[in-house]
Amino acid sequence: MAAADLIVHNARVIAPDREFEGGVVVRAGRIAALFEGAPQETATETIDAGGLVLMPGLVDAHVHFSEPGRGHWEGFETGSRAAAAGGITTFVEMPLNAHPPTVNAAALALKQQAARVSVTDYALWGGLVDDNRADLSSLQQGGVVGFKAFMCTASDFPRVDAPLMRKGMRMIASLGSFLALHAEDEAMTDALTRTLRAAGRTDRAAWGEARPIAAELAAIDTALELAAETGARLHIVHVSSAAGIDRISAAKAAGISVTAETCPHYLFFDERDLERIGPLAKCAPPLRAPSEREALWERVLGGAVDVIASDHSPCLIEEKTAGDADIFKAWGGISGLQSTLPVLLTEGARRGLTLAAIAGMTATNPARLFGLDPQKGAIAVGADADLVIVDPEAEFTLAADDLLYRNRHSAYVGARFTGAVSRTISRGETIFAGGTVTALPGRGRRLDGPGLA
Ligand code: ZN
Repeated sequence: MAAADLIVHNARVIAPDREFEGGVVVRAGRIAALFEGAPQETATETIDAGGLVLMPGLVDAHVHFSEPGRGHWEGFETGSRAAAAGGITTFVEMPLNAHPPTVNAAALALKQQAARVSVTDYALWGGLVDDNRADLSSLQQGGVVGFKAFMCTASDFPRVDAPLMRKGMRMIASLGSFLALHAEDEAMTDALTRTLRAAGRTDRAAWGEARPIAAELAAIDTALELAAETGARLHIVHVSSAAGIDRISAAKAAGISVTAETCPHYLFFDERDLERIGPLAKCAPPLRAPSEREALWERVLGGAVDVIASDHSPCLIEEKTAGDADIFKAWGGISGLQSTLPVLLTEGARRGLTLAAIAGMTATNPARLFGLDPQKGAIAVGADADLVIVDPEAEFTLAADDLLYRNRHSAYVGARFTGAVSRTISRGETIFAGGTVTALPGRGRRLDGPGLA
C-alpha cells in the first residue's frame, strides 16, 4: 500500500467509545485507521503529538460572524481564522447580526458568497422571523442546516410570538429540519426592563435583574408545549440555568425531541464578573449567580447538556463602551470563539469532566444535531480528519494580542487558563500550529443540509 498522507502518533486519542495511547492514519483527508502504540506504516507527513491529547475538531454550533453587512464586526476570514486557533474545524453561522439577516434565499446567497473566504469548514443557519414563512422552503433548498428564532426582541431580527412559532414549527418539521430558539420571555423581560429604566437604573446589575431565570423558564415552557403539540424538533440555545436544563431533560423523558445547549461563559463567569468586567461580559441571557453556575456545572457533569457552543457574538469596541454609563446601551454578546476549549479544560478538570465528555458536547453531539455525522464530529475511521491536539497542562493568561478576532476584545482577556490548543488539523491539513494560522482563506468547504445534500 502507498504511504499514507499523514500520521499523528504519540497521542492520547479520544475516540467515541475509548481512549488509548496511539494515533491516527489519514488518507485523502479522512481517517483511514486508528492505531494503539507505534504506527505500523509510513506517511508523507508525520506529526508527533508529544503525548498530548488528540480530540475531534470542534463543531461550534453557534457563532455570529456578522457578514455580509457587518464584516467590520468580524467577518468570515477573521472569524474562521480565530476558529482554527480555538480548535474549531467546523462552525455553524447564525442568521442574525449580518445585514441582511439570513431569512430568504437572496440573503442566503449573499451569506454563502461572503463565507467563501473561510479557512475552516462551515454550515449556515437560516432564520425564522415574523414574516418569512414563505421563504423557509427556499432556505432549506438552499442548504441551511437548521432554523433559528428569537422569542424575545433582538436588534434587527424580528421575534416570533407563540402563534407564529406554532406555524413555523409545523412548516420546519415538514421540511425535515429543526428549530433553534433563543428562549427568554418577551413580556417579562420587556416589563422588567421598563420598570428598571423608569427607576433610573443604568448599572451593570440591572441587566441581570431585567432578565431573570424565570423569564428563561417561561419561554422554555412555551417552546416545549409547542414542540409537544407540533412534533417539531427543537434545540434550545445558550441555556443559562440548571432549571432550564431540567425542563428540557423532563421533556426528553416525555418523548419530546429537544436538545439543550449552553455556553462556556455561563460555566466560567458569574454575575460578579459582569460587575467587575462591565459591558464586555454583557450577554443574553445574562451571567447568573455563582450558585447557579455550579448547578449548571452539575447538569454538564451529569450528561444533561447536549451541546456546548461559543455563541461568539463580536462587535466594535465602541458598541461595548457605549454601555459604560448605561449597561442597557451596550451590545449584548461575548467574543469567545477561542476560549471554549481552555474554559472546559480549566474548569472541567477541577470538577472531574472527562475529555470524552468534552468531545461529545463540543463535536460529536453538535455534528449529529445538524446531520453532519458521521463525516464530522468524531475520531472514527471514515470521518474527515478534523483533529485538535490539546495540551491540558499548558498554563496561560489570555492577552488581547492572542485574539485573532477582527476586534481584539473579549470578556476572557486577562483570564488564567490551564489547557490550550496546540494544533488544529482540518481534513488532514494543519491549519493552526505554534500560535499561527497556517492555512489560507478559502480552503474551507460549505456543508449543506438535506435540502441540497
Ligand atoms: Zn447567538
